[in-house]
Amino acid sequence: MKITFLVVGGLIYLVFVLILYKASKNFKIKPIWVVLLSVFLTPLAGLIALLISEKGHLITIERYVCDRCHLEHTENHQTCPHCKKEGYEITLRKVRYKSL
Ligand SMILES: [Zn+2]
Repeated sequence: MKITFLVVGGLIYLVFVLILYKASKNFKIKPIWVVLLSVFLTPLAGLIALLISEKGHLITIERYVCDRCHLEHTENHQTCPHCKKEGYEITLRKVRYKSL
């Protein structure tokens, strides 16, 4: 009875920590600080830290990467221009970076 209560309570506690961790990715505060505050000082402290922190501006950057020479291109070419000079036809792969 008591063990079940502790396990369920611990799982609910961890779910709150996980929710705050996911939410912290859109804020300027480092997610590890939110997790540490939530684990050691209850998720309420983590939530307060999130609310105090400024909201970050998420930027998505798109690049086109060649799998052979690993160069990143800003424009989408049909094939890698660098490898084309060496006689290879390598199709570029689209990559997205997210940053604050
Ligand atoms: Zn290449």
